[in-house]
Amino acid sequence: MTDCLFCKIIAGAIPSSKVYEDETVYAFRDIAPQAPVHILVVPKAHISDCNGVNGDNSAVIAHIFEVIPVIARAEGLEGGYRVVSNCGPHAGQTVGHLHFHILGGKQLALEMA
Ligand code: 5GP
Ligand code: ZN
Repeated sequence: MTDCLFCKIIAGAIPSSKVYEDETVYAFRDIAPQAPVHILVVPKAHISDCNGVNGDNSAVIAHIFEVIPVIARAEGLEGGYRVVSNCGPHAGQTVGHLHFHILGGKQLALEMA
C-alpha cells in the first residue's frame, strides 16, 4: 500500500462515497463539496498529476473523458458542468494523485483564476 490518499480510497482502505467504478477508473463524492454535485474521477493506477501523463498511461485519461459524461447524466447535470484538474502548488493541488473534479448542479462562477 502506498501512502497516497486516493490509492487508499481506491483500495477501499479509506471509505468513500462511490459513484462509478470500472477496471481502470474510480469516481467518488468530494468530502468537502464546492457545488451541489462535486465528484472526483481518478485513474486507479497512480499518476501524480497532469505532468505524469505519458504515452504509456494516457489511454486511461481518454477513458476518463468517456466516463465523465456518463456520470454527469446519472447525476442529472443536464444544465452543464465543469471539469477541473489542479496541477501543482500554484493551482492548489492538495492530493498528489491525478483527479478530475466534476462540479455542477448550480450556475457556477466564471472566475478561472
Ligand atoms: P485538489 O485540491 O488536489 O485539486 O483536490 C483534492 C480534493 O480532494 C479536494 O476537493 C478535497 O476536498 C478532496 N478530498 C481530500 N481528502 C478527501 C477524502 O478523504 N475523501 C474525499 N472523498 N475527498 C477528499
Ligand atoms: Zn495514488
